[in-house]
Amino acid sequence: MTQDDVFKKIVAHCKEYGFVFPSSEIYDGLGAVYDYGQMGVEMKNNIKSYWWQSMVLLHDNIVGIDSSIFMHPTIWKASGHVDAFNDPLIDNRDSKKRYRADVLIEEQIAKYDDKIEKEIAKARKRFGDSFDEAQYRATSKNVLEHRTKRDALHERYAKAMNDNNLDELKQIILDEEIVCPISGTRNWTDVRQFNLMFSTEMGSTSDGAMKIYLRPETAQGIFVNYLNVQKTGRMKLPFGIAQIGKAFRNEIVARQFIFRMREFEQMEMQFFIKPGTELDWFAKWKQTRLKWHLALGFGEDKYRFHDHDKLAHYANAATDIEFLMPFGFKEVEGIHSRTNFDLSQHEKFSGKNIRYFDPDTNESYTPYVIETSIGVDRMFLSIICAAYEEQALENGESRVVLHLPAALAPVKLGILPLVKKDGLPELAHRIQNDLKFHFNCQYDEKDSIGKRYRRQDAIGTPYCITVDHQSLEDGTVTLRDRDTMQQQRIRIDDLCGIISDSVTITGILKTL
Ligand code: ATP
Repeated sequence: MTQDDVFKKIVAHCKEYGFVFPSSEIYDGLGAVYDYGQMGVEMKNNIKSYWWQSMVLLHDNIVGIDSSIFMHPTIWKASGHVDAFNDPLIDNRDSKKRYRADVLIEEQIAKYDDKIEKEIAKARKRFGDSFDEAQYRATSKNVLEHRTKRDALHERYAKAMNDNNLDELKQIILDEEIVCPISGTRNWTDVRQFNLMFSTEMGSTSDGAMKIYLRPETAQGIFVNYLNVQKTGRMKLPFGIAQIGKAFRNEIVARQFIFRMREFEQMEMQFFIKPGTELDWFAKWKQTRLKWHLALGFGEDKYRFHDHDKLAHYANAATDIEFLMPFGFKEVEGIHSRTNFDLSQHEKFSGKNIRYFDPDTNESYTPYVIETSIGVDRMFLSIICAAYEEQALENGESRVVLHLPAALAPVKLGILPLVKKDGLPELAHRIQNDLKFHFNCQYDEKDSIGKRYRRQDAIGTPYCITVDHQSLEDGTVTLRDRDTMQQQRIRIDDLCGIISDSVTITGILKTL
């Protein structure tokens, strides 16, 4: 099965089990907008809690806010979004399909990388144990040829992006002979800039409506509240403000399910610091955030940092944490050293003094900022992709199982009476009524036990208990583990203690 097939199966699974539905589906959907179903919303809430608690509970110098989606339009002028929040787009005249010029070129760079890795893999096979990878990379004619082409392309691309040179971007696409995947032709239009912000009007048109924007990031809501929080919270630098909320971008190409949406959710934290300390804090936050991801247990090889070639207009250092999705390593989180750009701009445009008075040095200055910004939906997708497995079982059957981290699973415990009679459902309901105050339980009495286990595996429920006739006699049940499928008999009174420890977010937080 190709990775493409796996991804299609994951998307279908998300729909079949109530994780993610296309928005407005009965009207044939709305491009790149999705709804979370009964399972999806639980998992999404767990991801948000994990992030929020790791920021706000674990750091006594980080506090949260919840700012509005609509903001004064001048904010987006000050932040640079009105003038510069653009993507370079290009159309293929034959297929009439639209692409991001930068993405087409980045995919071409990735093709050279793939060629290099294939050469290495072939050589490893050929030379076996005696293979010296470093030497091969430095001396193989084929590898060096690919490397030279890749580096030259990379340099040319980075320069074109930094210079905002749209003609050069088109020329690169022509020179590299990049074709449209649909039509297979090189009949490209010129490259144009496209602003990604959605706008709407506030107030009735008769009294002069105001054009306002749906926020394309939550960060500006933090910057314009910086002084409110600093003063009312009596915060001293360094300190952070965290926020979770919706953001909207009119993405040119919306592909890959919930990876690139037009309405999505961000978890952002802006960390305000003394100027000059930003590169130290940038390095610290890189490590802190990577640790947060690694604590979910999917393995180090699923993550990598990708430092930016083209820095955004506000940044003096930037990196992405990328995750290995079925369609390659992709950005899940951005960490940016934003200098004092945003606060200075808001000072300039609002005419208000937003400087910080440092009581330790008696100086006043505009703080610098390190931002960590992660998309809830991309995080959700990365977890589902890493957790999904089609497993062949020893008895010849197969199952689809989501190996979700227990703390993020939508349901923690399936409660299954062996049969629908003899007082077993009543006992099972009593157990549910007791445990539902501690974690999310699901009662299921329909179909065979085997089928019910499969249903719980498919939504990633870490534990199931079966209530049988012995339970009525000695107050014990069988507890089944999702991953090992091992069962053990345990006392009903011990259930809460055993399960709570491994399904709460506190458990992962303690490992950070
Ligand atoms: P990309 O290069 O993929 O367009 P970006 O660099 O513009 O992303 P940022 O502006 O750094 O993204 O936003 C921070 C985070 O918000 C991203 O790491 C991603 O997880 C999330 N995000 C951004 N755009 C989208 C989108 N259209 N759909 C879903 N999540 C998004």
